[in-house]
Amino acid sequence: MEISAIIPSYNEQENVGLMYERMTKTLSKISPDYEIIYINDCSKDQTLLRIKELAAKDPHVKYLSFSRNFGHQIAVSAGLDYCSGKAVVIIDGDLQDPPELIEQMYEKYKEGYKVVYARRTSREGETWFKKATAKIFYRLLASMTSIDIPVDVGDFRLIDQVIVKHLRNMPEKSKYIRGQISWIGYKQTFVNYHRDARIYGKTNYPLKKMLRFALDGITAFSDKPLKIASGLGIVAAIVSLLALVYALVAHFCFNSTITGWTSLILSVLFIGGVQLITIGIIGEYIARINNDVRNRPLYILEENNMEEQA
Ligand code: UDP
Ligand code: MG
Repeated sequence: MEISAIIPSYNEQENVGLMYERMTKTLSKISPDYEIIYINDCSKDQTLLRIKELAAKDPHVKYLSFSRNFGHQIAVSAGLDYCSGKAVVIIDGDLQDPPELIEQMYEKYKEGYKVVYARRTSREGETWFKKATAKIFYRLLASMTSIDIPVDVGDFRLIDQVIVKHLRNMPEKSKYIRGQISWIGYKQTFVNYHRDARIYGKTNYPLKKMLRFALDGITAFSDKPLKIASGLGIVAAIVSLLALVYALVAHFCFNSTITGWTSLILSVLFIGGVQLITIGIIGEYIARINNDVRNRPLYILEENNMEEQA
């Protein structure tokens, strides 16, 4: 197999067919030996039916269908376990990322790059809030991690089968695939593109999921929050030491210690806040350790028409 496309799809009934047409046009220019893999993340609409109709008339179309909604990153991971292309493209099923760009990415791959990511120079149809939070998050993450995760890059990229092999060997359950790919290394490059607005359907990444995803990225690639937690502890300890000296001096030298409600309540609130934040940070890491230790399968397939490669 020369090239595989992995397309996670959740409630994308209008997009399945359009994606198929544009993808087929692009991939068949590259090689007749291609596969289009749809991962149905337990859609509530006709997505799976649409995919099956395509698979019935075109053997290039393959699918994996989850038993419940596992989320975008896990859908991509499933595609990576089953794909067999020498080059593998990961692309959203909502057509916000243009499949036509794959041609350019494939050229870079032919030049010897193992990872070609698509960098969005502009994005359309997304709220200023989403753009701003995305921007802040990518820069925050970059400042916290030792590895070089490129900014303004989603999961749209072309990777070599070597990278796929390494990804299959990475056991963590909280996936942050773009970070993992950066961590693997090899020669990486990018092409620029313009991110379109969604035409059909709506985003499935509300703020809550985005925060979760951001935390997965940070906890998987940085210990800094834990260090910030101990830093806060040290600051709190120094402040309380100073307050202790002040309290003793005030009591024994000046005998002026009856009033003091303000300082008392402030210190209780301050220490309490620092403690809760710290416990929360530690909890985020423990939750992920717990998830990894349980070692449940990453996803459950209800239906599929292809063989696992992993
Ligand atoms: N998606 C998925 N499972 C989910 C949510 C989303 O497979 O639980 C897919 C969705 O069909 C799309 C891609 O992941 O192809 C990106 O999702 P979305 O467009 O909602 O995210 P956004 O582009 O707004 O960040
Ligand atoms: Mg989208």
